[in-house]
Amino acid sequence: MFDFWRRALIFPFVLLLLSLLLWAAAGALPAALLFGVLLLVYLFFHLRQLAALDYWLVNAEEGVTPDGSGLWEEVFSRLKRMVRKHRKEREQRIAALQHMEQATSALPEGVVILDEADHIEWCNPIAEQHFGLDGVRDIGQQITYLERQPEFVNYLGLRDFSEVLILRGARQDGLTLSIKIVGYGENKRLLISRDITHLERIETMRRDFVANVSHELRTPLTVVSGFVETLCDMPSLENDMARRALQLMSEQTQRMERLVDDLLTLSKLDNALNALQEETVGVTALLNALHQEGRALSAGQHILRLELASDCALLGNAEELRSAFGNLISNAIRYTPHNGEIVMHWQEQGGQPVFSVQDSGIGIAPQHIPRLTERFYRVDHSRSRATGGTGLGLAIVKHVANRHQAKLEITSEEGKGSTFSIVFPAKRCLPAQPEELFSIP
Ligand code: ADP
Repeated sequence: MFDFWRRALIFPFVLLLLSLLLWAAAGALPAALLFGVLLLVYLFFHLRQLAALDYWLVNAEEGVTPDGSGLWEEVFSRLKRMVRKHRKEREQRIAALQHMEQATSALPEGVVILDEADHIEWCNPIAEQHFGLDGVRDIGQQITYLERQPEFVNYLGLRDFSEVLILRGARQDGLTLSIKIVGYGENKRLLISRDITHLERIETMRRDFVANVSHELRTPLTVVSGFVETLCDMPSLENDMARRALQLMSEQTQRMERLVDDLLTLSKLDNALNALQEETVGVTALLNALHQEGRALSAGQHILRLELASDCALLGNAEELRSAFGNLISNAIRYTPHNGEIVMHWQEQGGQPVFSVQDSGIGIAPQHIPRLTERFYRVDHSRSRATGGTGLGLAIVKHVANRHQAKLEITSEEGKGSTFSIVFPAKRCLPAQPEELFSIP
């Protein structure tokens, strides 16, 4: 800094000195003239450098950097260094950006960057294919304007992205996309789309196969079971061994029939084309009927109570709800020792209708609870089989709950008992049916 001032002031100082000397030698006028002319020259010199700087600032992009002289030489050389550094950094940033773009373009998933109002800021080539976008023309467009499927528009509008959206027939027929939205930065969102058409086809084939096999098995099984029963009832059957064998055959065919029925129920619930047929379900009447059936199943071995703390009806499918509630009750009976207590509750918790079955049975160790709704997952295989279980009951309950946007909650303590609850969304709670009020015990 000191050097700068030294160099900047040296000329005015010399000029002043010269003028003073001239004043002393030749008088004031020539001294003033010399001072004025040289000062003008000095000013002109600086103005020329300033003009060069101004020109350079305007045309900086063209890389015309002035050389400058005197004091300005150093200023310009510093500027040049700054510009070079800035250019290098910019090139590095561009290279990094291109690298990122190449990497996201190579992703097998579609990626779209959306702003807070769902305008497209950027998309990769796979997203262009999935949604029929143009990565240049459609930038700044609202995505719901280009992808108008109601499920997609609702999904974006709900702003709850905890679950993925399965979008069928998006843009191209037969294309199935799995869509996930992830928030980042300030209100920015990343839409990730994955083509799951192939996976869906395999899944449909698997479901169809299970449904077809179950369906095909049903008729021969009914015939065999019918004949076995007829043979069992024949009074002429005196051979003990034959009677025992027939008894065993009858038990096993019944088990297979239950399995086939549960598999068919599951495939029906699984079928995406089978939309939920909603009606008003009088839950109190349904539970009274299930209470009676439960008593018959328990055959007096348990205390079975029904507690109705709510009289609300449900918007749902009666057949599916009967199957789910029935499975929970039958499980409670099958996994509770003699003289145990089972209570069925129908209540509202924070406006949400809840059906729960509480038992004082064998309970479940915590590590098994998350896996109970998997198909054929059993804690105790022999007990499940001995009590006529198929291993599919809770999978059916979970499916029915999902189709009603309800949650299955399980709390249990080994050796003390379990509570299985189906918590329905408040919007499914309907006013009590007039005829139902009479059936509340
Ligand atoms: P299963 O036909 O074997 O009962 P489920 O799918 O209904 O099949 O249940 C899965 C497993 O969960 C059962 O095998 C059993 O181990 C456990 N389970 C279900 N309900 C109860 C209950 N109320 N008490 C204890 N264990 C239970």
